[in-house]
Amino acid sequence: MKIGLEVHVALPTKTKLFCSDLAYENQEEPNSNVCPVCLGLPGSKPVLNQRALEISTNIANALNCKISERTWFVRKVYFYPDLPKGYQITQLDGAIGTNGYVAVHGKKIRIRRVQIEEDPARITREKDYSLIDFNRSGVPLNEIVTEPDIFSLEELKDFIDELRSILYYQGININQELKTDLNISLAETRVEIKNVTGVRNLIAAAEYEIARQSELIKSGKKIAAETRAYKEDSNETVSSREKETEEEYGFTFEPDLTFYDTTRITIQKPIIASTVAADLANKNDYGEKTIRELILFNRRNLSLLSSIKKEEFKDGVSLIEKFASFGIDDYSEKEFKDMLKHDVSSVEKSDFMFMLGREKKPEQKAGKPEIEAGIKEMLSSDRGLMERGLKDEKAMSFMIGKIKEKYHVTGKEAADFIRKVIKSMSNN
Ligand SMILES: [Zn+2]
Repeated sequence: MKIGLEVHVALPTKTKLFCSDLAYENQEEPNSNVCPVCLGLPGSKPVLNQRALEISTNIANALNCKISERTWFVRKVYFYPDLPKGYQITQLDGAIGTNGYVAVHGKKIRIRRVQIEEDPARITREKDYSLIDFNRSGVPLNEIVTEPDIFSLEELKDFIDELRSILYYQGININQELKTDLNISLAETRVEIKNVTGVRNLIAAAEYEIARQSELIKSGKKIAAETRAYKEDSNETVSSREKETEEEYGFTFEPDLTFYDTTRITIQKPIIASTVAADLANKNDYGEKTIRELILFNRRNLSLLSSIKKEEFKDGVSLIEKFASFGIDDYSEKEFKDMLKHDVSSVEKSDFMFMLGREKKPEQKAGKPEIEAGIKEMLSSDRGLMERGLKDEKAMSFMIGKIKEKYHVTGKEAADFIRKVIKSMSNN
């Protein structure tokens, strides 16, 4: 089995690729962010968005591509209402990046090309008419083309996760906008599935197509070389229009644009979260899988875990998980570092918020005799709980947490005191 992808992602620029209309804002009203350039009116001239060029260069670099020192554009000529000027401005030979790869669990999935192109207008099909919205026309995209190096559905999922993470650290959320063309061949014949939107549909389309082709092979039938479309409602792929070849598109040089020098663009060192996870796991003797999950799509977690000392690492991971379990997402690095000084393993949310300084100190704190009496009461009413607590640290933490919450006490000292009292009572 061989799978190759052409992935289209939208670039996080303020304005469109060749004009100064807003790329993503004020989208509610159709055809409001438009001008002669993105409407494709005769005589209008495109001007390249430098920010789009910078972001694309950094993406190509993060995907280990060779960066074209001199990059240029072509017209992909075709007739369709979503592009009234009769061609899409895209790249081919002068593409911003070529010959890269994405490492997925030690295997390199090769990237053939990264190219910059404009998004066409959006067509909405109604029963007996269609609507066109040009707000999307001219939104900057990167098309990322892989070699057919993906050999299973699992690899496809892992590749998409890795790509998604790399792009996340380039400021791109592919959960918001992702359009993919997939080619899948189980035998010699190559089948292409065009215009699959979103990650979930991509995986579902691949799954369906793999099953369909396997079935054909099993029953001795021939697989047709064709283009198919994925139908989300029925979760299947169906045969669609004939495939154009590159010759039929009639690519020509785009004479309204020039050659662009990329050597002056600042290239940031890319963040590859899975590599960082492996390093952190190694450095801190900690499980890679957990770290990977925490940092693959989370810049703050990556920064926090990269900055803490080895002896605090385990507590750091627990603390991140604690914040998450309490649904606190807006904490700062300083708050994290402060909380790292406390033992919060058995702390309840109210105490946690108090320690964090976000909630007022409870009015009165109970004294030791009061706490002792409280523990006695709890244990006498539930003897089984105490027996479990002596054998099992989780049950012990649970009891400590309950008492701390009830008497508004916090910190390691209080926890140690409660533990001591519980143990002493078990001896009676
Ligand atoms: Zn425009």
